[in-house]
Amino acid sequence: MPELPEVEVTRLSFADRIEGATIKSARMGKPLRWALGLDPGALAGRTVQGVRRRGKYLLVDLDHGLLLMHLGMSGSLNFSPAQPEPGPHDHFDLVTTRGVLRLNDPRRFGAVVYAEAEASAGAVKLLGKLGMEPLTDGFDVKAFHTGLKQRSTAIKQVLLAGELVVGVGNIYASEALFMSGIRPTLKALKISRPRATRLHAAIREVLARAVEKGGSTLRDFSNANGETGYFQLEAMVYDRKGEPCRVCASPIKMIRQGQRATYFCPDCQKS
Ligand SMILES: [Zn+2]
Repeated sequence: MPELPEVEVTRLSFADRIEGATIKSARMGKPLRWALGLDPGALAGRTVQGVRRRGKYLLVDLDHGLLLMHLGMSGSLNFSPAQPEPGPHDHFDLVTTRGVLRLNDPRRFGAVVYAEAEASAGAVKLLGKLGMEPLTDGFDVKAFHTGLKQRSTAIKQVLLAGELVVGVGNIYASEALFMSGIRPTLKALKISRPRATRLHAAIREVLARAVEKGGSTLRDFSNANGETGYFQLEAMVYDRKGEPCRVCASPIKMIRQGQRATYFCPDCQKS
């Protein structure tokens, strides 16, 4: 599943090139998770002002309105001067004067949604509940700790929910908790300020590093399905059940939290 770093790397791969392009036409394939919300033909003539990211959404700003794109479980975007005939899994093409932006999404959990403005109801429904952006200055330690103190569920679940901070998917949550020595089952409200500070730094580090790595391995993850990202290659705990901890050599444990696999070191993450 594309996580925040992959979405950010995708953004960086085409944002500069599509900026300033005029839309010539748009084509929808099979229905995606949500409807586009306007006749694709109505996009013709509009210009692309830029591409931003909010959580795992890419926001393509137009001179009038914006497109919210989500890669779902298996989606990938490709921007090229020309594209071959659409295949069975190519469900959206945005044909512009600078190239064609194509969404390939075999499982069709992704979406392209049009909104008149970021503040309009359709956009707010998708973006309104998103937590702080971990890679911006808006991700403040104090606000993070305050949010943790208000939540009685396990810290791993709080991170995955994305309402406090976005983009900490399953792999990154396990890794950040390992880096900060916190047991994934610990109730969020029990985390002290110093530990919250360590976790805050770990989240930033693990995501920033993934974005950095992704820059050179874009092709690898865009072809991948499921949680088999490039990041796994150097994971400290993720997907390493029974293998020795890279710090203390204790066997890594795997438990289930809300249907998702959680990996941790019982010795490095005692509480
Ligand atoms: Zn260990």
